Amino acid sequence: MLNIVIFGAPGSGKGTQSVKLSEKYGLEHVSTGDMLRAEIEANTEFGQKADSYISKGHLIPDEVMIEKLDDLMRKKNGVKGFIFDGFPRTLAQGKALDEMLEKYDEKVSVVLSLEVEEEELVNRILKRGEISGRSDDNRETVESRLNVYRNQTEPLKSFYNERFKLVRIPGQGSIDDIFDSISTVIDRIIA
Ligand code: AMP
Repeated sequence: MLNIVIFGAPGSGKGTQSVKLSEKYGLEHVSTGDMLRAEIEANTEFGQKADSYISKGHLIPDEVMIEKLDDLMRKKNGVKGFIFDGFPRTLAQGKALDEMLEKYDEKVSVVLSLEVEEEELVNRILKRGEISGRSDDNRETVESRLNVYRNQTEPLKSFYNERFKLVRIPGQGSIDDIFDSISTVIDRIIA
């Protein structure tokens, strides 16, 4: 299986690139953010609870997210591989993902880190907020999301770098150029 973690700050283009990747390589796109927004949309109890974290730019607690991801993976038997988009976001989640994959005799194949300057991230998120209707795409929440990213998520880069999994991808420029850089990395892995 090919198990890709697409990694980066909010607004770095993880979702956009994941959709293209899943189409090109026939992989299962697992977006925890999309899953949470679907729960909010359906107005479930869990969705309401999740929104109270999301709208403040905070993370959902690890044990809840790990359990949700475990459920999701158990339902996806026989797939060619996964693209994990928005998971892991903490070291605890990174360790949990290794353990979950181990149960299937699998591992993370590569971590693609989309590198985008902070000013560009803020601009992109505010622009997306004009059309997304997301409760977290606004100026107040952006600061908190970037702080959470720096403090809780970015340490995963060293975690994966030490395991020789991390590949940095320049994440500014056209969507297609960025996708070409990603495809070059993936083609080398599957060759
Ligand atoms: P995203 O669409 O990936 O930017 O996620 C939107 C929001 O959902 C995040 O800011 C978090 O509040 C929440 N979220 C998504 N994935 C996770 C995760 N793996 N752990 C904790 N919270 C998450």
